[in-house]
Amino acid sequence: MLGGRSITLFHVRGIRIAVDWSWFFVLFLVIFWLSQFYGDVLGEAGSSSAPFALALISALGFFASIVLHELGHAMVALRNGIGISSIQLWIFGGVARMDRESDSPSTEFKVAIAGPLVTLAIVVVLVAVGLAVAGPEGFRGAALVESDSGVSGGLAVVAWLATINFLVLVFNMLPAFPMDGGRVVRAIAWWRTGDRTSATRFAAGLGRVFAYLFIGGGLLLVAGGYVFSGIWLALIGMVINGSARAASMQTAISGRIEGVRVADVMDREPVAIPGELSIERALDEYFLRYRWPWFPVIDAAHRFLGLLERERADEIPEIARATSLVSELLERDRGSLHVSEDDPLDSLLGNQNLRRFGALIAVDADGRLAGVITAEQVGRALRDAAG
Ligand SMILES: [Zn+2]
Repeated sequence: MLGGRSITLFHVRGIRIAVDWSWFFVLFLVIFWLSQFYGDVLGEAGSSSAPFALALISALGFFASIVLHELGHAMVALRNGIGISSIQLWIFGGVARMDRESDSPSTEFKVAIAGPLVTLAIVVVLVAVGLAVAGPEGFRGAALVESDSGVSGGLAVVAWLATINFLVLVFNMLPAFPMDGGRVVRAIAWWRTGDRTSATRFAAGLGRVFAYLFIGGGLLLVAGGYVFSGIWLALIGMVINGSARAASMQTAISGRIEGVRVADVMDREPVAIPGELSIERALDEYFLRYRWPWFPVIDAAHRFLGLLERERADEIPEIARATSLVSELLERDRGSLHVSEDDPLDSLLGNQNLRRFGALIAVDADGRLAGVITAEQVGRALRDAAG
């Protein structure tokens, strides 16, 4: 369901923020539903455009809260050397797409808890603003939507955003892997046992229990007349069930190559282009000779700088090729184009850039180019382990 055609909204620190078509459906429903809600709160339904304006502001505030939550995950992941290709919003919320899995329980824990902590901070700020503006009694009235409480539009928006973010927080922290709470459970189980495979199996099993509870609860809601909420909850249950099952299967596969490192299967003598070379020489001596779509680029000390793609080199007009340098044109590595030669091979499963480029660069402890590992080599290692 994810991944299909998505629309890029904007970029934050190189991370693409994109929405799925299903998100517009949610946005439309939320604005429609909130217009009626604020109409009732303000007691002037249909008579002015105020309820619609408040609904629009609330929907955008909700949208911003979800993006901030995902950015919380993303920033902590980046700080721990896990690349983030995009943040996608869809019908059930947001997903920060990571290039690889965490390699330690503490990283897994920090990345998982970062999103809920951001949401908690948003709730605290909104509650503080609401209390400062209306006092305890007034804010309570606004949050509980007491009729005749004389709530102003602005206060109603603050109260609604505080409530919805609180619900997001509670829901996300349910121990239903792959939701945040489930990832925290996996991190703790991994830390206690030292075994990621069995920790994942445990968390995924718990996730599936919650998935069935959601599906059952959703059906009860539908039976009770809450058709929309019921279907939504049941669908979330089905998504969680599918993801948990996929995680168990991936764990079973990666368990087979436990103990195998990148260095064990990589190609140790990769061809690399020196960064100080001109584009003209890069084309003549590398691209035309080997006919590969890209090459790793290194500096004088053999440190890995990034990748140069053939297409980029071809775009340079012929007269400028002798004076343009490879180092000016390459796609710089911000951490997601390389892996460590000591990384376990199973940490590469699901790596987005391995899929995109067909190979990844392996570096040693000092950042020097050590080898190239291809998707084919990873696949072969998996087949060997299975056979
Ligand atoms: Zn999250």
